Amino acid sequence: MKNKGVFITGTDTGIGKTVATLALGTLLQERGIDVGVMKPVQCAGDDAQFLKESLHLKDSLKRMNPYYAPEPLSPHLAFARQKRSININSIKKAYQKLASGHDLMLVEGAGGLMVPLKRDYLVADLIKDLNLDVVIVAPLGLGAINHTLLTIRQTEEMGLNIVGVLFNQTKKEKGGIPEATNPDVIRKYGKVKILGSIPYLKNIQPEAIRKICKPKMDIHYLMPNTALRRNRVQRFVDGDKKYLWHPFTQMQDWLDEEPLVIDQARGAYLRDTRGNYYLDGVSSLWVNVHGHGHKLIDRAVKSQVNRLSHSTLLGLSNAPAIELAEQLVAIAPKGLSKVFYSDNGSTSVEIAIKMAYQYWQNTGRKQKKDIVHLANSYHGDTLGSVSIGGIDLFHKVYRNLIFKTISLDFPDCYRAPQGESYPDHAFKFIKKFERMLKDKHKTIAAFVVEPIVQGAAGMIMWPRGVLKKMRDLCKKYEVIFIVDEVATGFGRTGKMFACEHEDVSPDILCLAKSITGGYLPLAATLTTKKIFDGFCFDYKNQKTFFHGHTYTGNPLCCASGLANLKVFKKEKVLKKLQPKIKFLEARLKDFYDLPQAGDVRQRGFMVGIELVKDRDTKEPYPWEEETGARVCREARRKGVILRPLGNVIVLMPPLSITFKELEKLLDVTYWAIGKVTGTNG
Ligand SMILES: *Cc1c(COP(=O)(O)O)cnc(C)c1O
Repeated sequence: MKNKGVFITGTDTGIGKTVATLALGTLLQERGIDVGVMKPVQCAGDDAQFLKESLHLKDSLKRMNPYYAPEPLSPHLAFARQKRSININSIKKAYQKLASGHDLMLVEGAGGLMVPLKRDYLVADLIKDLNLDVVIVAPLGLGAINHTLLTIRQTEEMGLNIVGVLFNQTKKEKGGIPEATNPDVIRKYGKVKILGSIPYLKNIQPEAIRKICKPKMDIHYLMPNTALRRNRVQRFVDGDKKYLWHPFTQMQDWLDEEPLVIDQARGAYLRDTRGNYYLDGVSSLWVNVHGHGHKLIDRAVKSQVNRLSHSTLLGLSNAPAIELAEQLVAIAPKGLSKVFYSDNGSTSVEIAIKMAYQYWQNTGRKQKKDIVHLANSYHGDTLGSVSIGGIDLFHKVYRNLIFKTISLDFPDCYRAPQGESYPDHAFKFIKKFERMLKDKHKTIAAFVVEPIVQGAAGMIMWPRGVLKKMRDLCKKYEVIFIVDEVATGFGRTGKMFACEHEDVSPDILCLAKSITGGYLPLAATLTTKKIFDGFCFDYKNQKTFFHGHTYTGNPLCCASGLANLKVFKKEKVLKKLQPKIKFLEARLKDFYDLPQAGDVRQRGFMVGIELVKDRDTKEPYPWEEETGARVCREARRKGVILRPLGNVIVLMPPLSITFKELEKLLDVTYWAIGKVTGTNG
């Protein structure tokens, strides 16, 4: 769907939207523009019929006005009384059909912006869903300023683009001072363009409009200007290449390609500057749990902006930081009772390591200094978290900059030795782990893991019981158990936290990515009272935890974190997720029909499809061939955004994705793998 229309709304009902639509339509037609008109929802009256006849439109009335109710009431009520409900999708379809036959669409609203069309759905939502710019029709006279400015403010708050305000003189009398000055006041205070005013018309007919309105109206802002739009797209493309350095990106390759510039998003879809839509198959890098533009989170952030955007936690406190900490403690595995904020996953892990290390220093076990981790883990990109990471491709080059650790090889779930089951293979590791702890626990401070699913390592998934065993052993040998749920937290594995699958309570829990619903950067490191108490001494002892970031506990971020949790509760997200997980599970089996799909792994809404050159020998594709990246490139052509991990195709959609969208995600992924591996039938 391309943006080629405007929505005509009024500051109130009875303001003359239909007259305005006719006036704009007539003058645009005169300029050679093929206009189409739609009045999606109408309660009483015959606006659509009138516009169809006056503008000589050939489209069917049913398509121009798919929803009609005879009573002059607010639509949600008028249609409820008819025992009908408004289907937004059918409006969208009718709009697309109409738009495809015209240069420019004029879509007339029902009432004003905040009029409900149905439960939880306002006229403003329809404007967003149809992706239209807005023309506001306003009256002239006393009282117009307040209503008009309110409408302008609300339109902007909803993220909608205003073309301009068109005034309509509905009364016959010659105006006084308000009528003469309204447009200028609105231009100045509303900071919008003025499209002119429609004088009082005795006969509302195209003939009269051409004669009387034309000199008083300025429609050039409405002319479909494709050149202007093209320029805007090009400006971003050029600017990206000129100024940006992208993360995890070989910029030489990047500069050879046309970047996709994302402009807007809603639900599970992203929209680029050209107006193309893409299904967000990886939740904008694993963060977006409830889709984009969730009303509740939008509102929470906006209302926090109006109160307080930032104040520091160094020496001061703030309400959202306190409330979110309380709620995180309430939902976290039991025993975790203190929250330390930072800005991202890497810092949440660094804080955990420093805390664990200093805890032993503070409490007199100074020889406990070593940090143990899994060799193939990923905990972030700052040097501390790189020290405990082991993904060679990312980290090799920094080897001389990082601190020494004890790195343990963890079995690859897909490549267990011949004749050995994966669980057996994994539990053998546990035996080795125990021997190591027995040997060295006197010098070990902490053990850090990503629980159950090791994300960036390629969606490596552990058999049941491994996490629990690790936890028990750490307790037995007095090693601080740090769990990095930056990726797995907030519903990704089907429960709020992966730890819950095995009833595990770590000593330190790291959270980030989805903590704000994918809105703002925030992280939290949660720990126990015992560890916290290991830092509470007389100041002179120098045992304070000297760590903090400027934006620690930022109120906006914490407000979006609170709203995120509210959505989980209010929308019963985890409960509604379960059938989607089942559906995903059933449909993922089909991927084994693709000969190059070696292993298809899933835990909840975390999926890895590992592509191999040879399924029998499990021989990987050489990394230089960038097989995963090529699959994602193909998927993008079909309107789906994916991001691979080497040869592993990752699916990690928003938890709010619909079954239909999920189906599309699976179909396109399947197709793209087939295309790239040359196995499409
Ligand atoms: C993404 C990730 C991190 C790093 O988070 P950033 O916000 O990118 O610093 C750490 N740990 C895990 C498990 C992750 O997936």
